[in-house]
Amino acid sequence: MNKKKIGVDFDDTFVKTTKYLLKFYNKKHKTKYKQGHMYSYAFDEILGLSRVEWRELETEFYNSDLHSQIPLRAGAVETLRAYSKKHDFEIVTARPKENMVFLEKTLEKHNARNLFTAVHSTGHMQNMHKRQKWEVCLEEGFILLIDDYPVHLNKAAEQGIPGLLMTTPWNKSFPLHKDVSRVHNWKDVGHFLKDL
Ligand SMILES: [Mg+2]
Repeated sequence: MNKKKIGVDFDDTFVKTTKYLLKFYNKKHKTKYKQGHMYSYAFDEILGLSRVEWRELETEFYNSDLHSQIPLRAGAVETLRAYSKKHDFEIVTARPKENMVFLEKTLEKHNARNLFTAVHSTGHMQNMHKRQKWEVCLEEGFILLIDDYPVHLNKAAEQGIPGLLMTTPWNKSFPLHKDVSRVHNWKDVGHFLKDL
């Protein structure tokens, strides 16, 4: 049987990045932000940061010990393992290339690297333009994209690649392409994969 390829986003789809980024921020600034406070994608505005300050916060977080401790979303490993005989799962992330070392560290910490047959970054590489996620999906021949960012999913769906939107507090009211289905957890993803 020929295995079909499925693209899986990393941040907030496979691991709880925002939860830990806020933990990092709260510790530093003695604040009490929770994921529920993030009601839109303008995280910088919600925290009262400029775009530059937000980028600096992200870089500091990636370099911190807390980053490698980001927990996985519940059921992610179990679901991927259950369907790995049927499908190849590949990470597709918008993190820049230079960040891949941190991502790999987090995967290793959870013994999760072997769940994925490849890791793709859409980020800049020397002399290479930044690719869009839908471009990676097409180039790699994914039959499905699992992500928490509706814009990536809607664009991939326009190219004929259906998607699953992992629900987060900040994507709750986003309009979705008809071929993008909302899921609430990895158990829901499992139900979808069963019928694929
Ligand atoms: Mg994400």
